[in-house]
Amino acid sequence: MKDKFQRFMAGRYGVDELGKYSLYLTIALLIIGLFVRSRFLNGITFILVLVLYFRMFSKNYAQRRKENEIFLKYKNQAVRFFNKEKQMTQDRVKFHIYTCPSCGQKIRIPRGKGKIAITCPKCKTEFIKKS
Ligand SMILES: [Zn+2]
Repeated sequence: MKDKFQRFMAGRYGVDELGKYSLYLTIALLIIGLFVRSRFLNGITFILVLVLYFRMFSKNYAQRRKENEIFLKYKNQAVRFFNKEKQMTQDRVKFHIYTCPSCGQKIRIPRGKGKIAITCPKCKTEFIKKS
């Protein structure tokens, strides 16, 4: 049986990063489908399974690799975006963002320092703020 499967899979594309994530998504949708009865959801899950199998058994390596690359590009962009959002949220807790009254430059000042004089790094204007 295992032998037959190996022979069947020979020369086929198999599972890449995109395949792995589609599989996770399929499993997640199947679980959601247990609780939510939705034809739409079932339809999407079904199509996803078809695409998953199609890509796995495909012999067109070049095309599948291209799809995977596109997927990875968008995935990395999404990861970078969320990391940046996370960093900005953390910054808002520890820092106060002030805007220079004369040139509009944004200046990051640590919180909890009391009243301080801030010198704009761009235009050297000095202004007093509570941090
Ligand atoms: Zn300034």
